[in-house]
Amino acid sequence: MKHNRVEFSYSVYENASELAPADAALLDSAREAITQAYAPYSKFRVGAAAVLSNGVTVTGSNQENASYPVGICAERTLLASAAHQFPDAAIDTLAVSYDGDFVKSDHPISPCGMCRQSLQEAETRGGRPIRLILAGQEGEVFIINTIADLLPFAFTPTELG
Ligand SMILES: [Zn+2]
Repeated sequence: MKHNRVEFSYSVYENASELAPADAALLDSAREAITQAYAPYSKFRVGAAAVLSNGVTVTGSNQENASYPVGICAERTLLASAAHQFPDAAIDTLAVSYDGDFVKSDHPISPCGMCRQSLQEAETRGGRPIRLILAGQEGEVFIINTIADLLPFAFTPTELG
C-alpha cells in the first residue's frame, strides 16, 4: 500500500490592479457579463468571459429557471456559446466574477462541480490548458493554470475508449 498526494499551485493577486493588462481586461468583461444574468430566484449573478485561440472573446452569465434544476451556470452558458460559434477554437483563458443581493463580492468564487466537468471536457477538446481567473468585484484574484487542477480523477473521454 502507498499513499499518493494531489497538489496544485495557483497565483493569488491582492487585487485586480496587479493583473497583466490582458487578464484585467478579461476580468472586466466577466464583470460586465454579470449584467446579463437572469437570476430572479437566487439573486446571485455570475458573469464569465473567455478569450479563445482565435482571439475572440465570448461571454456568458447564469440563466435561472422557475424549475430550479433547469438553470444553467455562467460557465456552461459560455462554453455552449463558444463551442457553437467557434467549434474549432480552443479556450485560452476564462474569467469568472459575480455579485449578489445577499453576498459581499469581495473574494473569488470557483466553478461548481458540474461546470468543472464541462470545463474539463472543453480543455480536453481544445488540447490545451484553460487558465482560470477568479475574482469578485473587489479583493483577491486567483489565477489557476489548468482546469485539471480543479478536478482530480476527472472522468474524461479516454475512459470511453
Ligand atoms: Zn456551475
